[in-house]
Amino acid sequence: GDSVFEYVTRAPDIPVYAVMVAYREDPSPFKLNLGIGVYRTEEGKPLLLNVVRKAEKLLVNELSANKEYLPITGLAEFNKLSAKLIFGADSSAIMENRVTTVHCLSGSGSLRIGAEFLAKHYHQRTVYMSQPTYANHPNFFVAAGITVKTYRYYDPTTCGLDFQGMLEDLGAASSGAIVLLQTCGHNPTGVDPNLEQWEQIRKLMRLKGLLPFFDCAYQGFVSSSLDADAQPVRMFVADGGECLTALSYSKIMGLYAERVGALSIVCKTADVASRVESQLKLIIRPMYSNPPIHGASIVTAILKDSPSIVTVILTYREMYGEWITELKAMTNRITSMRQQLYNALHDRAIPGDWSHITKQVGMFSLTGLNAEQVAFLTKEYHIYMSSDGRINLAGLSAKTVPYLADAIHAAVTHN
Ligand code: PLP
Repeated sequence: GDSVFEYVTRAPDIPVYAVMVAYREDPSPFKLNLGIGVYRTEEGKPLLLNVVRKAEKLLVNELSANKEYLPITGLAEFNKLSAKLIFGADSSAIMENRVTTVHCLSGSGSLRIGAEFLAKHYHQRTVYMSQPTYANHPNFFVAAGITVKTYRYYDPTTCGLDFQGMLEDLGAASSGAIVLLQTCGHNPTGVDPNLEQWEQIRKLMRLKGLLPFFDCAYQGFVSSSLDADAQPVRMFVADGGECLTALSYSKIMGLYAERVGALSIVCKTADVASRVESQLKLIIRPMYSNPPIHGASIVTAILKDSPSIVTVILTYREMYGEWITELKAMTNRITSMRQQLYNALHDRAIPGDWSHITKQVGMFSLTGLNAEQVAFLTKEYHIYMSSDGRINLAGLSAKTVPYLADAIHAAVTHN
């Protein structure tokens, strides 16, 4: 007889995966994938950090190692180190025990658990997110039953920030609403507010009682300083107010498939923070019971040596230092790709102002190419990217930049 699932309809493909499949199936030797947001080496290869390899060897050789279940909230030491990474080693909120941090399945899991917590325990069930934003952002909140609205963010005429529009929309948001903010290296635009603008955003949000939820997927990927890139979050924590953060190690340690991240909730008092944590456990328990240990152990081994205010001179920071060196190398390569691409576009005297390529930051650039031009690049040049014109700069190399620039030249001038 018929399957009991006979009436299941086919769901649409998820765009970023569809681009990946189309790229894989393209036999052209010139094909270029600038679609999915993962780091690539100058040779176009995935990168396993040396420090990660080293941490894994240590873990394998550790005699006391086992595969026992972790607590519902995950690896305790990992949680402490993750909070320090984002809020700073000298964070008074951490010292006052006002922060609860739970180990989650990467940035995505942290966002989803955070959204579930807010849906159950927060009075406002509306979240505002930037227009545009990371394609999966709305899903985390819609799935939790939270209404998604947007604030203006990107100005297509300048390929920069629409700061006035952003302030107007946040100013008009319903009081108490949740606001999703990207800490740095905004996906997909590459456009971040500067610190003076962040300060104005902070003042306005605190005035209106809006609740900040920071997505931190690229800490260190903009300036290669973990502290400098975390500054927007730390400004909001320094004022004594509350916020949530979703930290991801996918990009910054190249741990994509290990699914390592942490949700932190900064509260007014230690007592509130501990009650919040007790409720987070009730949310996690029926979903996956407890998180996997391997990736978090790698991160812990690397961060364990991280400098703290007191021990900075005394501690031998071998693994942490190695990570910073490798993080800097990734960031520098991306920045260099921006400059090389800009130079190549400039050399070809392609119509239009391309200065946004070097003004934007982080791994992505919203190039300003439209869907029709993107389709042209794919059809004629086998160059793959999302239809909004976002490119992953880490997908480029000195060898492929001229090819992309020629293709953009053709796309912009072809009729
Ligand atoms: N947030 C942003 C802005 C991202 O770009 C991504 C991944 O591309 C994520 C969150 C989620 O990544 P992960 O779940 O691997 O941490």
